[in-house]
Amino acid sequence: MNLSILVLPGDGIGTEVTCEAVRVLHRVAEKWNHTLRLTEGLLGGVAIHKTGTPFPDQTERLALDADATLMGAVGLPEFDNAPPHLRPEKGLLGIRRALGVYANLRPVRAYQALLDASPLKNHLAEGTDFIIVRELTGGIYYGVPRGISGEGAGERAVNSMVYTRPEIERVARMAFRLAQNRRGKLTSVDKSNVLENSQLWRKVVIEISREFPDVALDHLLVDNCAMQLVLNPKRFDVILTENMFGDILSDEGAVLAGSIGMLPSASLGGRKPSGAWVGLYEPVHGSAPDIAGQNKANPLGAIGSAAALLEYSFGLKEEAAAVNSAVEAVLNSGRVTADLRPSGPPATTTQVGQAVCEAI
Ligand code: NAD
Repeated sequence: MNLSILVLPGDGIGTEVTCEAVRVLHRVAEKWNHTLRLTEGLLGGVAIHKTGTPFPDQTERLALDADATLMGAVGLPEFDNAPPHLRPEKGLLGIRRALGVYANLRPVRAYQALLDASPLKNHLAEGTDFIIVRELTGGIYYGVPRGISGEGAGERAVNSMVYTRPEIERVARMAFRLAQNRRGKLTSVDKSNVLENSQLWRKVVIEISREFPDVALDHLLVDNCAMQLVLNPKRFDVILTENMFGDILSDEGAVLAGSIGMLPSASLGGRKPSGAWVGLYEPVHGSAPDIAGQNKANPLGAIGSAAALLEYSFGLKEEAAAVNSAVEAVLNSGRVTADLRPSGPPATTTQVGQAVCEAI
């Protein structure tokens, strides 16, 4: 199979972990006889430095041409006080919107070998296996009006949380389909006791649930969900929620998985004529300026994202499963980075990437 993939390493540890994910893709291509066609593009802080904008037109063209996009992370401290259009994170929102990827899938698993790396008691984390489906192109991150106006005591800031019925319907259908292929349970998370936006969300999700009688639906308010995720994470199978709630809740997943560096994600939108999803794949973590350039970052979230890319964009389930098994084998071997608190000396980013390739 020809695998045409755009790689956007981005900033900080984004470049380091992406390098290992690409190494794994090469290993898969070699073992299963696929032809890897990789192009590299600019996104985030590096793109601002080289082109003056976080999301250059050229990157958009490359992403639309590729079968799938593999991304690292964006963000550089030097842009922390830059105007909004000159922030690396603007590139992230830009590419998600350009590709129309409206559903962000974030699987969270507590691997047996990592139970001690979680600050939760083992019996709480053990057996955790859920997936967060976060709406990605709507809600308060995109809604208008937005902005800061006025001066002095009159200075005010506005953001708008906006959802339309079709936006809720399409992401809900995706989450229900996923639940059908898992344990058949979907928890929709909102703040319907306070927000009209969430009242529409809940109403539409209930309507869509009638198309999926084999999936059991329940609802949680987001504040309660935040608590249940650490009190009783095993109760969850598929969690469906809007953009900002999903952004916040999924970082709690890091506590269960042992480190944020473990978490992969897949952002999916429409389907191509071939039936493959239009997909953008990236680890959940950011550019981690505190450890960038030190060969310390955990590349397993990025490698898991590459596995998701093989599965969702190319239908290569066997290859994806082989990558995931290799990740588990590496975890069991104890050759892991410092964030997973190994008993011996920590492995480097490069060594973990190599170990995954060897296990494949
Ligand atoms: P972060 O995820 O970069 O880091 C949070 C903490 O987790 C840090 O202590 C970091 O060292 C650690 N960490 C993160 N990934 C790790 C890995 N793979 N291995 C080991 N440790 C890891 O979040 P932050 O510090 O809040 O943000 C830093 C920058 O990244 C900001 O500019 C932010 O806007 C950006 N960001 C980008 C994305 C993205 O590109 N998708 C997501 C989140 C944050």
